[in-house]
Amino acid sequence: MKTPFISRQELDKITEQFPTPFHLYDEKGIREKARALNKAFSWNKGFKEYFAVKATPTPAILKILQEENCGVDCATGVELLMSHKMGFKDIMFSSNNTPASEYQYAKEIGATINLDAYEMIDFVKETVGLPETVSLRYNPGGVFSLGTDIMDNPEESKFGMTRAQLIQGFKDLKAEGVKTFGIHSFLASNTVTNDYYPELARQLFTLAVEIRDEAGVELSFINLSGGIGVNYRPEEEASDIAVIGEGVRKVYDEVLTPAGLGDINIFTELGRFMLAPHGLLVTKVLHRKKTYRDYVGVDASAANLLRPAMYGSYHHITNISNPGGPVEVVDVVGSLCENNDKFAKQRELPQARVGDSLVIHDTGAHCFSMGYQYNARLRSAEILYQEDGSARLIRRAETPEDYFATITGFDFD
Ligand SMILES: *Cc1c(COP(=O)(O)O)cnc(C)c1O
Repeated sequence: MKTPFISRQELDKITEQFPTPFHLYDEKGIREKARALNKAFSWNKGFKEYFAVKATPTPAILKILQEENCGVDCATGVELLMSHKMGFKDIMFSSNNTPASEYQYAKEIGATINLDAYEMIDFVKETVGLPETVSLRYNPGGVFSLGTDIMDNPEESKFGMTRAQLIQGFKDLKAEGVKTFGIHSFLASNTVTNDYYPELARQLFTLAVEIRDEAGVELSFINLSGGIGVNYRPEEEASDIAVIGEGVRKVYDEVLTPAGLGDINIFTELGRFMLAPHGLLVTKVLHRKKTYRDYVGVDASAANLLRPAMYGSYHHITNISNPGGPVEVVDVVGSLCENNDKFAKQRELPQARVGDSLVIHDTGAHCFSMGYQYNARLRSAEILYQEDGSARLIRRAETPEDYFATITGFDFD
């Protein structure tokens, strides 16, 4: 079972005020999630979550996380600009294939630069000069597995540098006068197990000892990055951050403390885990259609939520207007002229009637932000369901004027 964070009565009030489709975010859930994470890692004095801005680049959401003592992780100049304007002090810049201008800006605003490639050490040195603090991103190659389960394939990933490059990189950085060092690695995405972080931590903590021994560099932080997943499917279990934090602590006490490295700070850059369950895409049924299948046509489309079309991802759907209706097997579709514009295929759903409100679950991360304007379908609004039960518009829906705004030589009037 998946239950929306809002009741039918409360949602009806919001849909009367704001036209669908829109993304709705749950302030209470977001705050509780951030507090649970900070508590799970409170054993580590310098612990910091740098929320991955790309997951939900919406200032009102980032503000909530800022109030809950989170920093931000950026990958582009514009994400840096947004974060700096919002007054973030703790900014990680985990970019790749980066232009010099963005390193320059990251340096100016005091962001921590995490270099994706060995070659970037010389590039940064020659273009903008090395900062005092540098982090290097590690890619061990091969496959990343937990027991017999292959989780992901670092060998095929464009990110990070080899072990040999990393060791040489730290020697180079030290010789160049860099003072503070860190490592970062992201080896599997959307893991729905409590074992991912502890296993990643074991690899990185062991590496930290080797870096000290081979390069003579003591790390100040180890960044476990993102990758903790969410239970998109109702039969999956949610990751338990208290168990995960405890798992990382055990490995820390086993590997780092005895090696005399017991004051290394742990950082995370979680995006999906922090936000996904705390967002819903709210949409209404526009039409029914019956051919070889039964179709439920809704007013949202892949332009608002791309994951099912792009990755075949499962997003649970609740018919909040007719939860007790007779169950049908349907395809839930948007209006784009693309047959992959389907939120669900052959899904059992309580009868969805024209005008019913459907909520698509777990759209708080990597959903609005992946939106696009194909077919000149415009980006939707974003609304915050606040702790006091009121709804606040935090981003208006795009208008045709927005769509035409960047075109030159076309007079919209
Ligand atoms: C995307 C990304 C994250 C966040 O990943 P999630 O799967 O949302 O946790 C963190 N760090 C980096 C460098 C990323 O690219």
